[in-house]
Amino acid sequence: MKIIDAHIHYAGWDGFNETAAESGQVNTVEGVADNFRKNGVVMAVAMGAGRDGGDPAVCRPMTPNLAGNTTPEHYGQPDYIAYCAGVDSGAITPENTTRSLEEFERYLQTPQCVGLKFYPGYHHLYLSDPRHYPFFELAAACDVPVVIHTGDTAGTRGHVKYAHPLTVDEVAVDFPKTRFVLAHYGNPWIVDATEVAAKNENVSIDLSGLAAGTIDAAVFLKQFRGYLEHMRVWMDYLGDWSRFLYGSDYPLVNIGEYIKVIRAIVPEEHHEAVFCNNALRVFPKLKPLLKAEEEK
Ligand SMILES: [Zn+2]
Repeated sequence: MKIIDAHIHYAGWDGFNETAAESGQVNTVEGVADNFRKNGVVMAVAMGAGRDGGDPAVCRPMTPNLAGNTTPEHYGQPDYIAYCAGVDSGAITPENTTRSLEEFERYLQTPQCVGLKFYPGYHHLYLSDPRHYPFFELAAACDVPVVIHTGDTAGTRGHVKYAHPLTVDEVAVDFPKTRFVLAHYGNPWIVDATEVAAKNENVSIDLSGLAAGTIDAAVFLKQFRGYLEHMRVWMDYLGDWSRFLYGSDYPLVNIGEYIKVIRAIVPEEHHEAVFCNNALRVFPKLKPLLKAEEEK
């Protein structure tokens, strides 16, 4: 089965290298390539995070940096790694909004920049903050989705009230032409995330980051049976498998076993949609990248 991983991290910072080691993976360009090949992952969307310092007078896109480079024209990452430009919400000011948008547009004009990523829980700001509005409009104009970290935050510095999936409802309504993706199914607010997606056609859900470390799928499925059954109940309640995207949150979890977990939760007849086709629809810029990959 051809797999698109709609949510990974592709960064070489110490934290990510350690996390990869904890999940038994090697966080290098070669390590990821090998890992993907073994598990049938043909393409991935990396979430830009971290701050590059750069020009303080502008909110610069946050990019993945495992391959070393951070400028859009000279990226250096493999062709099968697309990415969402991360928005450092706190760096947006009324004075720099226009320049910041131009900067994001410059990245979005390159093939591998396929979306925007917001981190409201980490940046202590609601997604509905008006400073975000022009970025939602830019995403719609460029036909790319807005991915939002929803649910629990890593570490203790986040404020989860900002990351609650219900906060996405307001902007999903007010920006009907923008596609939104609730990362991590808003976990543990699965019911709320389901409602936001059920109510708003422009909202999808990624299934990344629901397990961490070196897991064994069989053990995980048994140990967390109640939790996973609860999730499946609400997936059935939504009743639209075109809304779910497979994602791992690599390097958080060993991807081979995580794929097995998601395969076990999603009915087999929807595997192709959840593991591949839904991502191609939500992230249309992946289509030409995948085609080019397949022609290699
Ligand atoms: Zn993530």
